[in-house]
Amino acid sequence: MNKIIIAIDGHSSCGKSTLAKQIAQALGYVYVDTGAMYRAVTLFAIRNNLIKNGTPDKEALISSLIDIKLSFELNNDNLPEIVLNGENVEKQIRSMEVSGLVSPVSVISEVRRYLVQQQREIAKNKGVVMDGRDIGTVVFPNAELKIFLTASPEVRAERRYKELIEKGTPASYKDVLANLQERDYIDSNRSDSPLKQADDAVLLDNSNLTREEQFNETMQLVKKVLS
Ligand code: C5P
Repeated sequence: MNKIIIAIDGHSSCGKSTLAKQIAQALGYVYVDTGAMYRAVTLFAIRNNLIKNGTPDKEALISSLIDIKLSFELNNDNLPEIVLNGENVEKQIRSMEVSGLVSPVSVISEVRRYLVQQQREIAKNKGVVMDGRDIGTVVFPNAELKIFLTASPEVRAERRYKELIEKGTPASYKDVLANLQERDYIDSNRSDSPLKQADDAVLLDNSNLTREEQFNETMQLVKKVLS
């Protein structure tokens, strides 16, 4: 069967990765979490003192990009986890510290170019579900299916808070809500590749949808494109 690229963009913590994983699994496609790539660059920057008082040292980070080697490896559930210079950092990149610094890092055009190039390479044979902020607008403007996912900030914060607590990552609901609102603001207002709905993306507000409902709606769209 004809393979396509499915781009899933949207606000922070609105369930993009959950949906993208389900769709990839149903279709036998590769799932690519581009947020994990920006988070891994941020973790590298933190570890190498390239962020001072919440502000990335842009020049130093740009010259260090060459030392940042990213890849994905499959876990026992067959889901990709991010590897930074040979170390699986899937858990470390989800910390509140990384969440608080990732948007300022993602503003840097050179960082974006470095990662977008890798994202295009991964998807060169299609058969990919990729989630992020600029997939349908910048990375794959010709993606065959584009979904723009959103939900109210409170619903998103509640879901992310529960997820962090379940995984044993310390967090407070208030901090989680503030963090996602701040990330949405920075992500939507940056000059390079701001978060916005592509003209030809389908808007899906999942505030009142179950995971199953959102999956079924998306699969209907996939089937339409593939038929
Ligand atoms: O998807 P996730 O919430 O893990 O992404 C973390 C951050 O990475 C976002 O808030 C955004 O700043 C950045 N990002 C981006 N472009 C992407 C994916 C993520 O700028 N395609």
